[in-house]
Amino acid sequence: MSSTDIDWQKIHRDATVVDIHAHPSLKISLWNRLLTTRIKSSRSFDPFSIHTDFISLKKGGVDLLLSTAYAPERGILQECQYIKAMKYLMPRKWKKVYGQPYFDVVMQMLDLMESAVENAIDENGVAMATMIKSVTALEDYLQRGQDRPIGIIHNIEGAHCLEGKIDNLEKFYQRGVAYLTIAHFYANAAVHPCFPYPESVQIAGCFKGDRNLALGLTPFGEEVIEKMIELGMLLDIAHCTPTARRRIYAIVGKRAPIIASHVGAYAVNPDPYNLRDEEIKKISDSGGMIGVIFMNDWLMPHATKRGINFISRTIEHLIRVGGIEHVAIGTDFDGFTDTPDDLKDAAELPRLTQRLIADGYSVAQIHKILGENALRVLCQGWRKKT
Ligand SMILES: [Zn+2]
Repeated sequence: MSSTDIDWQKIHRDATVVDIHAHPSLKISLWNRLLTTRIKSSRSFDPFSIHTDFISLKKGGVDLLLSTAYAPERGILQECQYIKAMKYLMPRKWKKVYGQPYFDVVMQMLDLMESAVENAIDENGVAMATMIKSVTALEDYLQRGQDRPIGIIHNIEGAHCLEGKIDNLEKFYQRGVAYLTIAHFYANAAVHPCFPYPESVQIAGCFKGDRNLALGLTPFGEEVIEKMIELGMLLDIAHCTPTARRRIYAIVGKRAPIIASHVGAYAVNPDPYNLRDEEIKKISDSGGMIGVIFMNDWLMPHATKRGINFISRTIEHLIRVGGIEHVAIGTDFDGFTDTPDDLKDAAELPRLTQRLIADGYSVAQIHKILGENALRVLCQGWRKKT
């Protein structure tokens, strides 16, 4: 082993690594996956594999994972014929996913994630993971030594699961949910979304409907944002239309850190989902963070599947425009994404550290990107204002 090998491994091991957006609970809920087993795939897109099981997270040196619960939206049934077939192929699962209010579905996903954490005991009888449901619990967790279990924090994607009721936000906060991504694939009572996939990508038989990017935040959406600031819940602008995002920057200003949990940069890949330079600055000014997505379609043009180059370019651009303090990692692993061939799952995350060293970043800068920035924003934004 050369000395450079030793260096990058140590730098990665010493870092507190945080992934601010991934979907293990989708795989538990849809395919009954256990998080104590690795199901790897040689293909970058394989909906049945799992990228964020506890073994892969441990291998990749991940300390904290923000686990994203998502109730599949009914709009998908109109736009995606394959999912419609689920009604006949998996009738019981269908009822569980589409036969109840979104609020109930998402609460059940939080339960599932908690029991997956509770049941994850290794061969020595040691807990592999632990739930963290408040900033105080997070601060306690960070005091623990290197061989602490993986910390799991809840977050939720899509304000459709509020069912139009502001009180449900408080119920999520009480459950220990750190942030809400207000938009998702379809318009909800709070906000209008971008296209689920880049407009240039054709998904055979799915997601061909219209999205009106001129539409933005609704009056209920404004109420949701005010309530989140009051509660001390972080607000995530990923999936919002550029129009909605502009409104959010204007009404939030510097009152709360704004996050974009799993996105790319418009300058690297021009798509309305990705952030323009002025938005990167607004998020930095709010004290927030931008999680770089590990999904080929958002990161880059489609000539290659080697995404590390584009992750590196995106990080470099975000730092140049918004500063080193506001970049984070938001992989979107297990969200049915096409992950880069050279960074397919959580176990391969040390490759990012290796690349960042090659790019010339200092150890202190690498530690910020891998997790320190995310921890700072969580500790500031996920608590009641006093
Ligand atoms: Zn998403």
